[in-house]
Amino acid sequence: MHTTVTIVYDNTTRDPALLADWGFACVVASPEKTVLFDTGANATILQRNMDYLEIDPKTIDAVFISHAHWDHSGGLAPFVERFPVEVYVPRSYQPDCRDVPVHRVDNPLPISQRLFSTGEVGGMEQALVVDYGDACALIVGCSHPGVAALMESAAVFGRVGALIGGLHGFNQLSVLTGLDLVCPTHCTQHGDSIRMHYPGIYRAGGVGTTIPLPPMTGSD
Ligand SMILES: [Zn+2]
Ligand SMILES: [Zn+2]
Repeated sequence: MHTTVTIVYDNTTRDPALLADWGFACVVASPEKTVLFDTGANATILQRNMDYLEIDPKTIDAVFISHAHWDHSGGLAPFVERFPVEVYVPRSYQPDCRDVPVHRVDNPLPISQRLFSTGEVGGMEQALVVDYGDACALIVGCSHPGVAALMESAAVFGRVGALIGGLHGFNQLSVLTGLDLVCPTHCTQHGDSIRMHYPGIYRAGGVGTTIPLPPMTGSD
């Protein structure tokens, strides 16, 4: 089975039936665990998009919050109230959600055999590492600590092959050399120059985008 990353909350969408709103969330469905990465700003919009994309919230095993900002964590409390699952947040963020286990992550941490937190980087943000065998995908919220710092923190898990998420004001494009795929979305300000410099690996984002990662070694 392929691991897939499906964007369920984003600033843009190409499908008018889906709702675009400032924020980010994606569903990482792996053979071991399905993780909701960030929750966008608004739980109702999140739910509507997941319904339309036929992603059953009951399949979510854990919620992973990149950082405290409202456009990533706004949907968290209402989501886990309806679907109580464990939550991973960076150490500096104390979410207001009762009755679910909350892991406040400081250092790199396994979430399952193939999914990892980079640990909190720059005192505020964690990213999700998906080991798909030959390389890893790095899923980021806003990249406030910088793309280079997040990629460095992921390197302990293997080569970073794919980068997906919000890159904010990132413009040191050479950092992306060697990637197999980049999907800069959400708050990314220089998406056009990334597309022009790396047309072969560039993937457009937006709600409804599904990115299959290569199959994991040793799985089917
Ligand atoms: Zn942010
Ligand atoms: Zn953001």
